[in-house]
Amino acid sequence: MQPRADVYELTCPEPARSALLFETPAEIYARVFRALKPRSPLPEIQVEFRRYANADSSIRLESGRLTIRIADILQGAPAPIVESLAWILLGKLYRRPVPRIYGHRYRLYLNRREMRQKMQLVRQIRGRKLLAPPEGAARNLEDIFERLNREYFDGLLARPRLGWSRTRSRSMLGHFDPSHNAIVISRIFDDASKPLLALEYVLFHEMLHLTHPVDHAGVRRRVHTREFRAAERAFPRLAEAKELLKTI
Ligand SMILES: [Zn+2]
Repeated sequence: MQPRADVYELTCPEPARSALLFETPAEIYARVFRALKPRSPLPEIQVEFRRYANADSSIRLESGRLTIRIADILQGAPAPIVESLAWILLGKLYRRPVPRIYGHRYRLYLNRREMRQKMQLVRQIRGRKLLAPPEGAARNLEDIFERLNREYFDGLLARPRLGWSRTRSRSMLGHFDPSHNAIVISRIFDDASKPLLALEYVLFHEMLHLTHPVDHAGVRRRVHTREFRAAERAFPRLAEAKELLKTI
């Protein structure tokens, strides 16, 4: 893929290669701090790697001490990646504009295949999936899954974990979590007064995620590919179902 020219703007200072090889993460943060705030005294800096279920990081300034917490999945990251994150976090903390190359480099790294695999693994092992059983008060997701499976997938889909969400979410009506091989449907649909067609469409959509892999190219992550959208059109009364969703 051709990099976009504006992403690779050449305004960022190239770090000295020899320095990068021997710097600890705390030293990298100190150097970036000095570049961003040349007139301020350098605070005490502590960098910790934490066992997270994701690649999150945080920065905090408390009584003159900077504490940076980084997901341990990034512990072995090359120095330029550690430095990119330092620019991102310190830039955010001190509201300083940061050359876009750092955000781009960091996202590119996280989007590498081995990083995505590692992340999926830590999510599986460390993350908990909160979902309630598929038998709801009014509707059973397993029954609906099997019916849709027969009608549109020749009964060939292996059933993932299925469950209702804990809350009656309106912002997330359904979602497929590949790390836990689970489909979660908003409890809002566990209600006989809500149109069944709308629920069927949401579940059908999530079932398509079982058969359509996410497309990763560069920093882009395309979940609803062209093929996905084409397959979705196999759902009869698609337009009607989408209209119904707007009323929910
Ligand atoms: Zn989707």
